[in-house]
Amino acid sequence: MSVLPRSPRVLALANQKGGVGKTTTAINLGTALAAIGERVLVVDLDPQGNASTGLGIDRSQREISTYDVLYGDDTLAHALCETAVPRLWVAPSTLDLLGLELEIADAPDRAFRLRKAISDYVAAARERSDLPDFSYVLVDCPPSLNLLTINALSASHSILVPLQCEFFALEGLSQLLSTVEQVKNALNPELTIHGIVLTMYDSRNNLSDQVVADVRETMGDTVYETVIPRNVRVSEAPSYGKPVLLYDLKCSGSQSYLRLASEIIQRERRLREAA
Ligand code: ADP
Ligand code: MG
Repeated sequence: MSVLPRSPRVLALANQKGGVGKTTTAINLGTALAAIGERVLVVDLDPQGNASTGLGIDRSQREISTYDVLYGDDTLAHALCETAVPRLWVAPSTLDLLGLELEIADAPDRAFRLRKAISDYVAAARERSDLPDFSYVLVDCPPSLNLLTINALSASHSILVPLQCEFFALEGLSQLLSTVEQVKNALNPELTIHGIVLTMYDSRNNLSDQVVADVRETMGDTVYETVIPRNVRVSEAPSYGKPVLLYDLKCSGSQSYLRLASEIIQRERRLREAA
């Protein structure tokens, strides 16, 4: 097993529940980090490809995808697509990813395909000035604890968990945390939990406040201060192939993703100082 490069920082957006805001957070946190000067790669590991679409990459442009990279046919460097956001790239996915798990099931390195692709990229970028030198890689995981998510967790320094402000928010979290523990023990001793981000908060709904209070009480400081509000501009933006920060910078959704980005950078700084 190769050692994770120190830079870029690799963060997996994971939660086996669908519809909790993983992809929305990958797109908009990635954009917000790029807006404040980071060089960011979003790796789309969901066969649905919503992160790729939301970042403006049409299916016809996805000549080389994360499927090719994980299958072992091509490099991450070849899969990079520029986005409309300066300093933000995406490695797009296609529906081919649906079949990958079966295709590589017998390969001894099946859980390390992404980790290898990222370390190869970092080594290539050191030699080649035409390849961006990323400071963050955000991996958008599918809504399942399958081999794709395991690849993301074994390639990441840290996991970032979006939780939707709904009645059953914490349900399923213990299963996710025990998967993280297993990956840490068996595949990636460096893996930590970066934080939990509460999404789709609705100030008109008392239940949302109750959920925020419960999650903070149970999970303590792991939960970021920033809460992402439910905001119609956030849900409209992907149909224009744009991150919400380009679609409407002033809306509450954009502003909260900018706050989340600076909170993440602060946490990173504290982690570095503690190391
Ligand atoms: P996941 O990737 O976890 O399945 P998504 O990010 O695709 O979840 O979000 C699920 C749906 O909720 C999408 O239609 C998305 O546009 C919408 N959504 C996500 N975050 C917000 C938000 N803050 N406000 C409004 N709609 C949101
Ligand atoms: Mg998604």
